Amino acid sequence: MDQEQIRVLLVEDNLGDARLVQEMLAESKNYIFDFSHVESITKAYSSITKNHYDVLLLDLSLPDSIGLDTVQSLVTVNPDLPIVVLSGTSDEKTAMDAVQNGAQDYLVKGQGASAMLVRSLRYAIERKRSEQKVSYLAQYDVLTNLPNRALFYDRLKQAIKRATRSSKKGALMLLDLDNFKDINDRLGHVAGDQLLVELSNRLRNCIREEDSLSRLGGDEFTIILNDVKDKRDTSFVARKIKKAIKKPIQIDGHEIFISTSIGIVLFSNENDIPEALIKHADMALYAAKEKGRGVYVYYKDKMDISVTKRINMINDLHFALDRDEFELYYQPQIDLASGKLLGMEALIRWQHPQLGLLPPSKFVHLLEETGLIIAISDWVLSQACKQNCLWQKEKLAELRIAINLSSRQFHQKNLLKSVRKILHETNLLPKYLQIEVTESTLMTNCQESIMILSELRALGIQLSIDDFGTGFSSLSYLRLFPFQELKIDRTFVKEIATHSNVEKIIAAVITLAHGLDMQVIAEGVEMEEQLPFLVENGCDGVQGYLFSKPMSATVCNKWLAKNGGHLLPIPCNNE
Ligand code: C2E
Ligand code: MG
Ligand code: MG
Repeated sequence: MDQEQIRVLLVEDNLGDARLVQEMLAESKNYIFDFSHVESITKAYSSITKNHYDVLLLDLSLPDSIGLDTVQSLVTVNPDLPIVVLSGTSDEKTAMDAVQNGAQDYLVKGQGASAMLVRSLRYAIERKRSEQKVSYLAQYDVLTNLPNRALFYDRLKQAIKRATRSSKKGALMLLDLDNFKDINDRLGHVAGDQLLVELSNRLRNCIREEDSLSRLGGDEFTIILNDVKDKRDTSFVARKIKKAIKKPIQIDGHEIFISTSIGIVLFSNENDIPEALIKHADMALYAAKEKGRGVYVYYKDKMDISVTKRINMINDLHFALDRDEFELYYQPQIDLASGKLLGMEALIRWQHPQLGLLPPSKFVHLLEETGLIIAISDWVLSQACKQNCLWQKEKLAELRIAINLSSRQFHQKNLLKSVRKILHETNLLPKYLQIEVTESTLMTNCQESIMILSELRALGIQLSIDDFGTGFSSLSYLRLFPFQELKIDRTFVKEIATHSNVEKIIAAVITLAHGLDMQVIAEGVEMEEQLPFLVENGCDGVQGYLFSKPMSATVCNKWLAKNGGHLLPIPCNNE
């Protein structure tokens, strides 16, 4: 068997003692000791900086250093080197103190033989290793091997010092993965962990050696950029990160799409304290989430106020459902060929006690974040079904009603059960119900989406793909999903009669959708001039302010009494 080699440096001014140690080590049968010897602490410093040793044997009374100071200064010079202290019988107490101050073991001279000395050296090496492991765990995240919150904080302090000294700036980026909790819940924690590891590798590849990436926990990461000239530098990195995260990830046979929101704050001198920077980056991150996820936002002074507002809003949202503050508005969809009413889309509103009537853009993301959105989906569904039944009962109209489901609502475990239950309770025939989902909802997990959609379809519910053109627009994927309808997003429709290449896209989408047996609805039609193009290209239906804005139930009833079931030959703009 190969004998293990251990490199020892003895620091000892007494030559007799030194020779004795050397002889004792030579007696060992299990180890080969590569032995070196110096007589002073000064020589020890230079020796340990030039050479590698496995362990240091240290006499506590040297000509140029005595007692505990000796140990402490050596630990400072090389914190990774295990130390065994040698003491006389009279200063055994000091030797024990030395162990508390960074040495791994001690021996009293003249006590014990070769075996004991060897055991002590081995023990010191092992102990150092476990100390290092503990300190690693205190500073690094086990899953991703990235620095954790504690070490991040340290590095941020260093980066601030560095920026203060130099003419360049530093930047702190706070990242939070969008919908990660959702994906984690659905795929399980093992897959969630795999995802985090993959994403942390991608992030690592986006930054330079001198920058630093940490994981604060969960799906929160930070990046510190050093030597930044201006915003352009940081925006470049932010864009690179967005792109890297967006690429699909294969996990357990699932193709996962994820995006990240980023909050950024720049710093340049010692007035920038870590706590404030983190808080500001956090505010910028929230602003990024509000802007619609997958974006980066720089911190601005005014953000302080908007965070308070946000916290108040979240508080209020917790009571909104019980206080009956939500309301559905309805917007008609019209058949282009006949001018007849095709259906209604239900759109949520929040009647806020102080702020008045709020559109979904002001609160749906907050519902998502707090998880309240799940409860809301049941409410919307049942409210819409009840309303539709009423219209039919009162002979106002016989049509389908569309509701919108966000990704989180769509992928919740109980969706099918809820839908079945609500249809049963309200007695609405499934063919009068339509569910709208967006492309990105489908792409968070294609396979699962196909399953959910097929089951909804099996119930007899109509399915519509919303905001088409704004997401991944993967036309090849479209054929995998059982949709009956495709809604072209407003941003495209807006360009009709102005930009011919957008018109070409719309025409192609209509042809493609028809090829897949889907009806096409144009969203956000505001001007009469848009109609001829849509008619010519065979678009099936339209929805937009040109015909009617979304209406409260009361207004909608009147509108239906006037227009429902009748032809709508001339566009009329109702408020
Ligand atoms: P969406 O499903 O694409 O709904 C169409 C949005 O376009 C509605 O905005 C509607 O008011 C607006 N719109 C319709 N015609 C026109 C037009 O001619 N011009 C312009 N500029 N806008 C028009 P709204 O009601 O603010 O809803 C925004 C989004 O919020 C919806 O987009 C939908 O994604 C989401 N949303 C609405 N209600 C719900 C809900 O109950 N649950 C969920 N999860 N999301 C909802
Ligand atoms: Mg919609
Ligand atoms: Mg839409």
